[in-house]
Amino acid sequence: MTYFPDFAEYEYETPKPLRGVRTIGWLDAAHEFQKAHPSDEVLQRLQTVMSERVTSNIHASLIRGTMPCPICGVRDYPHPELLVGSTEIWLPDNDGGYFAAPSMIYHFISAHNYAPPKEFLDALFGFEPASNFRAQKISEDLMAEAMGFGADID
Ligand SMILES: [Zn+2]
Repeated sequence: MTYFPDFAEYEYETPKPLRGVRTIGWLDAAHEFQKAHPSDEVLQRLQTVMSERVTSNIHASLIRGTMPCPICGVRDYPHPELLVGSTEIWLPDNDGGYFAAPSMIYHFISAHNYAPPKEFLDALFGFEPASNFRAQKISEDLMAEAMGFGADID
């Protein structure tokens, strides 16, 4: 995993930043981050939203296996249905764009007391799991645009 500060433009392995996408929770061991005792409400909500695959699906960029946690080194995470360490999760922000977080954010919150910014929590609680939101399609479209293949390039 690569470190990005919260609210950075998303440019993880992209030729240029993806339009309207900002990073949340791309932590590593070298950078300080905001901490708080994880709230059951937040973890429960993440479980609900991350385990949905039939209607909405907030997961993108699935890899085989899991990435090790850059802070503690584990790579065997509870709740395998959440795909922790194997994907990114994308959520609509309040601004017509998206937040992109590593799915490991669930582990960062539960095991390392990471406190995501309020804007991300608002996006998480405002998300509608029964919608047809498809993070993979959105990320592919924005990547194609960044590579110059999009139909509506600014
Ligand atoms: Zn860890």
